[in-house]
Amino acid sequence: MSLLVVGSMAFDSIKSPFGEVERVVGGSATYFSLAASYLTPVRLVSVVGKDFPREVIGMLSSRSIDTQGLAIADGKTFHWKGYYEYDLNTAHTVKTELNVFQEFAPVLPEEYRDSPYVFLGNIAPRLQMDILDQVRKPRLVALDTMNYWIENSPGPLREAIGRVDIVVFNESEIREISGEYNLVKAARTVMGWGPSRVVIKRGEYGVLHLSDGTMFAAPAYPLETIFDPTGAGDSFAGGFMGYLASRDGSELSDMDYRLATMYGSAIASFTVEAFSTERLQNLTPEEISERVDAFRTLTEFRV
Ligand code: AMP
Repeated sequence: MSLLVVGSMAFDSIKSPFGEVERVVGGSATYFSLAASYLTPVRLVSVVGKDFPREVIGMLSSRSIDTQGLAIADGKTFHWKGYYEYDLNTAHTVKTELNVFQEFAPVLPEEYRDSPYVFLGNIAPRLQMDILDQVRKPRLVALDTMNYWIENSPGPLREAIGRVDIVVFNESEIREISGEYNLVKAARTVMGWGPSRVVIKRGEYGVLHLSDGTMFAAPAYPLETIFDPTGAGDSFAGGFMGYLASRDGSELSDMDYRLATMYGSAIASFTVEAFSTERLQNLTPEEISERVDAFRTLTEFRV
């Protein structure tokens, strides 16, 4: 079933201990859509400038990604510049240039309005709410954000969180927004604002998934080669939501959420093996299933 995503499409300039790249294609919606497209059809809502490569838009629409909701505006594409030290779990922002996002007022194409699954990717909370105002009765809405928005737009962000079912944050974000260091307490605080589930991304330590009464912990896949963690969080979210949307509207069980977490973790583990979307755009469904199986073996034990 269709999965709508709103988020950034970007040029990223990134430095990690393993190399440096300038103005490569990135953005939360780009990573999310590619990851989810292995599991379900995606409807993309974003904006790029005239400087964004047409081939990339062509590559997205050659997959099951509907790009009708992608605006091409006069001006420059969003640009994020950041770096990682040996602790690859923490992205340090050097510069955030919103560019065409400053003026963006998304209008959903009519057929997007009935999207049953919605992902409000990392972007201005005002835009996340613009989308929520335009969709009709979605079954499930999830939201992601970043320290930039927690610090620059706290009020609208709290309001947006109050309107969704699931939040997908990394551990520093949930600590910052909740004011709680302990992750279980932080998740309880956020659930008190409305969402019924909290998924905490912990980089190389995996994912912690909490709802009222259930807890699930997934490891990250222990890789030998990691080049660039950028996009891992959005690829995780794409795999996670993509799997839930692929369940064709059936009632979602706790096991569905667990499997969704494993699909997200499997797809994210490929993203970090190369810079930009290079690895993510060249996966096969077999590689993804094999990685999900490898996770099963990794954590299996008997008494
Ligand atoms: P992650 O998956 O969490 O590593 O997110 C990486 C992507 O987030 C990068 O490709 C950036 O272009 C994008 N990004 C960085 N800062 C922001 C921001 N303030 N708003 C929206 N997207 C951002």
